[in-house]
Parts: sequence; structure tokens; C-alpha cells
Amino acid sequence: MTQTVAYAFVFFLGLAFGSFLNVCIVRLPLGVSIVRPRSACPHCHHPIRWYDNIPVLSYLVLRGRCRDCDEPVSLMYPIVELGTALLLLAAFRIDGWELRLARDAFLVMVLIVLVFTDLTERRIPHRVTVPGILIGLGFSWYVPVDSRPLVEILLHWDIALPPEITSFAGSVAGAIVGGGLFYVVGQVFFYFGGRRKQYLGFGDVMLMLLVGVYFGIPLTLMTILLGSLLGSLVALPLEILNPRFRRFAWPYGSFLGAAAIYVCLWGNSLLQAYLRWSGFPS
Ligand SMILES: [Zn+2]
Repeated sequence: MTQTVAYAFVFFLGLAFGSFLNVCIVRLPLGVSIVRPRSACPHCHHPIRWYDNIPVLSYLVLRGRCRDCDEPVSLMYPIVELGTALLLLAAFRIDGWELRLARDAFLVMVLIVLVFTDLTERRIPHRVTVPGILIGLGFSWYVPVDSRPLVEILLHWDIALPPEITSFAGSVAGAIVGGGLFYVVGQVFFYFGGRRKQYLGFGDVMLMLLVGVYFGIPLTLMTILLGSLLGSLVALPLEILNPRFRRFAWPYGSFLGAAAIYVCLWGNSLLQAYLRWSGFPS
């Protein structure tokens, strides 16, 4: 298969997966089946014809409106479809036909679903995070989580354990740090906030458990850093400019999820660049 054909294949596969992710985003927070019934217009409930269900293209042809009732169709649909296709293309460019591609593609798609369920419904469904965590633990056996575990870097100590065990341990350690940190921070805010407002939901803890399982400790910390930075860059200016936003429930999970997508694909390059720049012995 020539390279161009391979890229086109991955792109169209990404569009099709993106279309399925849209179904997951809309239905999973409602707790209904993602298989049945067929998709219908949320306004007029007319079933969507197969030729109106072609990723991105149908949205453009119908100019973002339902064929039956002319009500606008959410811009989320083409964004998720095109976004999934482009991110899978990036993963393929980075990983090639390796098992790592399956892991990265799977994680990126799980994160896309969580970014949008948190954005639209403020929900991070356990039906996504729990299977995602279990599959991530399985992947850690075959795809190294930490190329260099933190203890090894800090202590200059070469651990003579089989790579599968080191990787699995790195995965569990990442989950404990990611999920644990968010659980503790959430409890502290809840306690000192007079137990009135829950700043971080349990969904955020589950999201960080998931991220930790795939990333190990260093990249999990990078995700928290970049996610907080992204959240501050978006939320702070809006809250300063418009007091209305100070009471707005920001979707922290969406910011963390977006950061995790970036870290999944480009985190290692960023970490290597940072270690080189800071003169860390490698
Ligand atoms: Zn309609």
C-alpha cells in the first residue's frame, strides 16, 4: 500500500469513527443504547436517511439544517468527524503501523467523547471511563507506558525487571498519582468551600485515573499542567470581562481531555525537548 493510499484510508476511517463518536456523545450521558434505534432529528424525530448521514459532506450539502424540519444541526457533528479524522491521521504519522497506533487511536477517541460529554452535559460517563481504564491496563503490558520510569531517572537506577512489569507498574503509578491528586484536591475544595459547591466532580477523578493508566507519572503531570493552563487561558479573561461568567460551571474535564489528547500524541516530544533544554542528564 503506497503512503498516499494509507493516509487516505486512515482519514476516511477516522471520519467513520467520528460519526460513531457523535452517537456516543449524544447517547451515553442519557444512559441509552448506542446501537438502537437509528439516528433521528432531535427536533422533528424524522429518522436520518443514509445519504444525509455521510460525515462532514452531508452537513455541507444540507447547509447545517435538517432536511425535514429545517432546524439547524449542531456544528458539533462535523467538528467531531473532521477532528477525529485529523487526529487519527496525526497518530498514524507518529506511530506508523505499530500496536502503539491502536492504543493512541483508542485513547484519543475515548478522550474526544469525554471532552464533548463534559462540554455539552457536564457528564463524564463511567460507561466510557471504566472500560477505558481496563483496556488501558491491558495495553500497558504490550505498549510501554514509561520509556524511562521516574524512579529510574531520579535514582539513576536501572531496574532489572521485565519491560512488561515496569510498564504495567508505570501505568498503575500514573493512575494513583492522576486520580489521587484530583480526589484530594476535590475533597480539599469541597471542605473549605463550606461543602456547598463541588468544584471537581468524581467524573474528573475518573478521567485522571484513565489518563494516568495510559501515560504514567510524568505525562500525567504534564496533562494536569497543560489542562489547567488551557482552562485558565479560556476562563480567566472571560470572567474578568464579563461577571456573568463567574457563576458559569466550567467543564474542567473538557480542558483536561483536550490537554490529554495533545499529550498522547506530542507529549513525549515536548518532554524530551524540555529535558534537553533544562540540561537534564539523559
Ligand atoms: Zn428535523
